[in-house]
Amino acid sequence: MAALDSADLIKSARKVVIKIGSALLVQDGALRVNWLRGLADDVAALKSQGKDVVLVSSGSIALGRVMLGLGAGVLTLDKSQAAAAVGQINLARAYQDILQPLDIKAAQVLLTLEDSRNRRRYLNTRATLNALLGMGVVAIVNENDTVATDEIRYGDNDRLAAQVASLIGADVLLLLSDVDGLYSGNPRDGNAVQHFPIITEITPKIEAMAGGAGSAGASGGMKTKLMAAKIAMNAGCAMVICEGVEKPVQALIDGGKCTWFISGASPSQARKRWILAMKPVGVLIIDAGAVAALGRGKSLLFAGVLAVEGMFERGDPVDIRAENGDNIAKGMVGYSHVEAQKLIGCQSSEIAQRLGYPGRAALVHRDDMAI
Ligand code: GLU
Repeated sequence: MAALDSADLIKSARKVVIKIGSALLVQDGALRVNWLRGLADDVAALKSQGKDVVLVSSGSIALGRVMLGLGAGVLTLDKSQAAAAVGQINLARAYQDILQPLDIKAAQVLLTLEDSRNRRRYLNTRATLNALLGMGVVAIVNENDTVATDEIRYGDNDRLAAQVASLIGADVLLLLSDVDGLYSGNPRDGNAVQHFPIITEITPKIEAMAGGAGSAGASGGMKTKLMAAKIAMNAGCAMVICEGVEKPVQALIDGGKCTWFISGASPSQARKRWILAMKPVGVLIIDAGAVAALGRGKSLLFAGVLAVEGMFERGDPVDIRAENGDNIAKGMVGYSHVEAQKLIGCQSSEIAQRLGYPGRAALVHRDDMAI
């Protein structure tokens, strides 16, 4: 199969998530600062093209265990969590140190599995990440390893990175790894193996090719990369596995060997499909002006809302209907039914006064709506 043009795919992306594995960051017990500098140049180049960039970085445990002199063996949960706490603060500082000279502000975001499972936390995480991106900040995400216990852990940053990509509606997810893509077998075994430049569907045959975790420092391996690919593809995000060489993004753009996982839909199409598939639990009746505004791609504001029916919480799916009962759209609502009832017909400037606390202007944001 012919290779894809990585340069085109990256050039057309608006939001890019880059996952950096432990094995790339920490080698022989030390942080690879020069490699990180090259990555920072890549990030600066993407940002200068107007793209939003999020980094999902592993390495807290790998770094912390070195700093605490814990050796290379398997760590008990409490020790690995302690190592993560020590490693993470150093990791965050390393990113800040390399990004600051390039005039890039960095933010640390530590997530747990609950943040993507629980709807309120999911929405808040998304809002915060989008606020950071809106201010040009590069978020450095890791799992909150210090508090996450085995039952509530992602355990690998491949899936975490795919969740983050899906959360922010990224177009491209780069998994920087110590392998340059998916092979029919283990390329390190010395047997003849086939490299796949493009995957458009993750079949059981492909899953069977993915062995266990690849390298000693990482918890990922090809299995979790394929799980990540499924999450990304479902969210309309293209994912690529490539080697974390010097200036890895530039190397990819220059035609570096890799495997792309491509989905048929764009992030916004995938999101709309997802919204349309949800069963509505309430109805918002809107006036003709609001119907016209939604048709022009605007968010639904309270001024155009005539009535609110049903019981719903923030983030629940609702139908949006015209006065004559025509279904206009479906969306994820930004307020609970109790709040929404209080705000019917309200101007955005009056929201804080009516509620007694500040709130967002849109009852349904346009990104959360399918017409
Ligand atoms: N969150 C872990 C860390 O920062 C790494 C997980 C992984 O290797 O994917 O050390």
